[in-house]
Amino acid sequence: AIPLVVARSTAIAAQNGLLIKNRTAFENARKINIMVFDKTGTITVGKFEVNRVQSIHPDYSHDDILSIAAALEQGSEHPIGQGIMEKVKELSLEVPNATGAHAITGKGISGQVNGKEITVGSPSFAKQFIAQLPANPDAGETLVFVIAGDRIIGYIGLSDSIRPTATGAIKTLREQHIKTVLLTGDNKAVAASVSKAVGIDKYIAEVLPHEKQKTIQKLQQTPAFVAMTGDGVNDAPALAQADIGIAVGSGSDVAAETADIILVNSDPEDIVNLVLFGKATYRKMI
Ligand code: ADP
Ligand code: MG
Repeated sequence: AIPLVVARSTAIAAQNGLLIKNRTAFENARKINIMVFDKTGTITVGKFEVNRVQSIHPDYSHDDILSIAAALEQGSEHPIGQGIMEKVKELSLEVPNATGAHAITGKGISGQVNGKEITVGSPSFAKQFIAQLPANPDAGETLVFVIAGDRIIGYIGLSDSIRPTATGAIKTLREQHIKTVLLTGDNKAVAASVSKAVGIDKYIAEVLPHEKQKTIQKLQQTPAFVAMTGDGVNDAPALAQADIGIAVGSGSDVAAETADIILVNSDPEDIVNLVLFGKATYRKMI
């Protein structure tokens, strides 16, 4: 039989934006020592806007850089791809056809545009092509490089906005003695800037999806009871590894299927409810 206090608290949880898929995980929320957050779509809204486009090759205009990138990104589900497509639409640029476009998870996207092998990807990925990158991300900026063959021909700077309730949520977690960690595939500069803005204790940047899971495992061995909140397909292994996996409602189906708890309103503040309810429920049971 389900203890009455637990049944009641599950109903209260539902009223507070928490969909409990795994009751044991919910009851264990009081044990959390470390809360790990994905960045894009979790702490931030996950909607990128293009702020700057730069060509560094005489054969290509700034608009060419954007439309070549868009050629690859038109089928992409990645928020960076969607941000690039928005900008192209806004500028009414013509987008060439691409063939063989394929995502390189956690790194970028590749394919052929106008008979040339093109890659759009992260700074750490671009470093495989050229040791000295032609630009660094500004504070809070997500930067992607456009590569033709083995030459960087330009770059695109994008930004995302922080979810308004994130800072308050982090503050309450700190008051509950829970350590917070930001875990992202994005560059160090943006990870540092976002963690600082919301008060997250520590950031780990430029991590690939399988490394996200490894990181959770390492944190668990410190030892700690680790919860992870994420939204992406790339967060699913980490959500499964965590002692409590929390998915953002607006995120991917894969994340929601893997998680123990879903933030129905995609509001980081509701994580606080989870932690506080966990403690309150436990007190009532003993
Ligand atoms: P996050 O942890 O922020 O969800 P991802 O693991 O999805 O990030 O991606 C990490 C980095 O790889 C991005 O910040 C970006 O630089 C690059 N990247 C991934 N997918 C794409 C794409 N479709 N287009 C351009 N860059 C991409
Ligand atoms: Mg994400």
